[in-house]
Order: sequence, then structure tokens, then C-alpha cells
Amino acid sequence: MDKKRVVCPYCGTGCNIDLLVENNKIVKAEGTKDHPVNDSQLCLKGLYGFDYVSGTDRLVSPLIRKKDGKFSKDGEFVKASWDEALNLIASKIKDAKDNFGPDSIVGNFSARSNLEENYVAQKLMRAVIGTNNVDHCARV
Ligand code: SF4
Repeated sequence: MDKKRVVCPYCGTGCNIDLLVENNKIVKAEGTKDHPVNDSQLCLKGLYGFDYVSGTDRLVSPLIRKKDGKFSKDGEFVKASWDEALNLIASKIKDAKDNFGPDSIVGNFSARSNLEENYVAQKLMRAVIGTNNVDHCARV
């Protein structure tokens, strides 16, 4: 059985986990002994929340609602490339900014992202989009 050390992805605390891996599948999670953040301890999410890694219903590519080959809120989900999904998102943000102003847009970011990712995200909102509407899910 292999042991792989990772940082828990569930919140910003930064607990370290030793994942026990057998036949390329995670079978157990243990808090890393003597780690300065969590010293062997894990909450329930860190201890048991790894089933999704090998889940067969896991979403592995973007989906866009389409009707007659075009984006439609009433359409069915269709698998899309990352380029297509990101271009659609960018065009919708641009439309909102052009039609309703930058303060019509809010960026609500994630406790599951690290500090650097959240920094870049708020910078995008302030410097590129032009709004201070920035929030974070850990605040609620
Ligand atoms: S084990 Fe719990 S407290 Fe530690 S980082 Fe993961 S979610 Fe946060």
C-alpha cells in the first residue's frame, strides 16, 4: 500500500492528509503525524470525504445548456470543451458589464481555493471588471 501526502482540499485550514492508496484507489485517510497544522487530527470531511475521487458519476468536462446547437437556458446539458465554456462565460460577463455596468457583477470565491487563487480572483474583479463586489463563501 502506498502513502501519498496531500493538503486537504475542503477548507483553508490546510490540514495535511496521508492517503493510503491500493491498486490506484484511496482506501483510507489519516491526519499527518506531527504536522504543525493538524498533528494527526482531521475533521469528518478530511477523514471520509475522498470517495468522489474514484466516483464513476464524477463530472470531468464542462456542460453547456444548448438548444439547436446554441446556448439556451431552456436547453439540455451538452458536453463542451473548456475553451467553449470559458468563452461563453467571458461573453456573458462582457454582456452584463456593457449593458448594466461593472457593479452588476459579483465575484463570490471559494474556501477551497488557496490564498494565491483567491488573490487573483479578486484582482480580476477589481482591475479587469472594475467592481469591488467581491465576497467569499467562508464568510456566511
Ligand atoms: S480536515 Fe477539516 S479542518 Fe482540516 S483542512 Fe480539511 S476540511 Fe478543513
